Amino acid sequence: MSEPNVVTVRGLRKRYGDRTVVDGVDLDVAAGEIVGLIGANGAGKTTTVECIQGLRRPDAGLLRVLGLDPAAEPERLRTMIGSQLQSSALPDRLRVGEAVRLFSGRDGADLLEQFGLAARRRHAFASLSGGERQRLFLVLALVNRPRLVILDELTQGLDPAARRSVWAAVDQLRTDGTSVLLVTHELDEAERLCDRVVAMRAGRVLESGSPAELVDRHARATTITFTRLPGPGLTDTGLTALLELPGVTEVGQLGGRVLISGDRTAIAHVGAALAQAGPVPPDLSVRIPSLEDALLDLLERDARADTPHRELTGVLR
Ligand code: ATP
Repeated sequence: MSEPNVVTVRGLRKRYGDRTVVDGVDLDVAAGEIVGLIGANGAGKTTTVECIQGLRRPDAGLLRVLGLDPAAEPERLRTMIGSQLQSSALPDRLRVGEAVRLFSGRDGADLLEQFGLAARRRHAFASLSGGERQRLFLVLALVNRPRLVILDELTQGLDPAARRSVWAAVDQLRTDGTSVLLVTHELDEAERLCDRVVAMRAGRVLESGSPAELVDRHARATTITFTRLPGPGLTDTGLTALLELPGVTEVGQLGGRVLISGDRTAIAHVGAALAQAGPVPPDLSVRIPSLEDALLDLLERDARADTPHRELTGVLR
């Protein structure tokens, strides 16, 4: 029998006053799975994870997290989940090493080392830079080796090297079988880390799937662009003939630049045709769609479906 879900959410609803900000959300996180919650600002992502952590009481819906009902046993659940703190959660004068000991009863030297904080062990929380605080919060989220880690804006404010080391740490969690629920606007991060992403807008889940699935379903075409050089190279006939190549769906010109759209296979065929026609244009570039493109498309479609047609006149592509 397969392991039960670490998180099961069905029909979650949450209102603030008379405004429903989470409106029937279903969400699953399996053992060892890394799931990203992505979407528009104000979509209800943070509220959803706060309900999952027992920090907010839902108005309706079923929640099971590590076998518990978060609304019924919030305190017990919080000791079982590793989650990032808000900056205000630690006293200014608390030292890094003391914070780790307070949370776990051990010195967590391995994690401090891994996150580049070993030399800061005796420093007060208030003296840490933004990125160092962020890294300390990660250490505190992981130090008790929880089965579920909930992270909100994992690498916000981190420098590129720290970002990479945090990603490596999350990859390691996957290897250890820990589940991760990640709220993020960093879609390169979601693409890189998540087994599955759940896209939300206006309190609802629009779609979920692996990042690659969402890109295949929603992203626009791969585009190839270059400037035609004077002299030898692609003739007008050659340019028209590109449209016949496998994977190519459109060939156009804008200013002096050629724009070709298609799927990924078009890259190889167009490249070969260009190389055969003469010197390869030095500004040849290829843009493969990303999860960000897919999400933008998804959000735009959903917003359009929501909005009366007359308001959109002139706004649509
Ligand atoms: P973002 O990407 O901007 O962080 P989010 O998807 O995490 O957004 P939430 O923070 O869950 O969205 O907020 C959802 C909606 O609920 C927003 O419109 C927000 O203004 C509102 N909201 C959040 N917390 C409260 C609160 N304590 N009282 C009233 N409204 C709230």
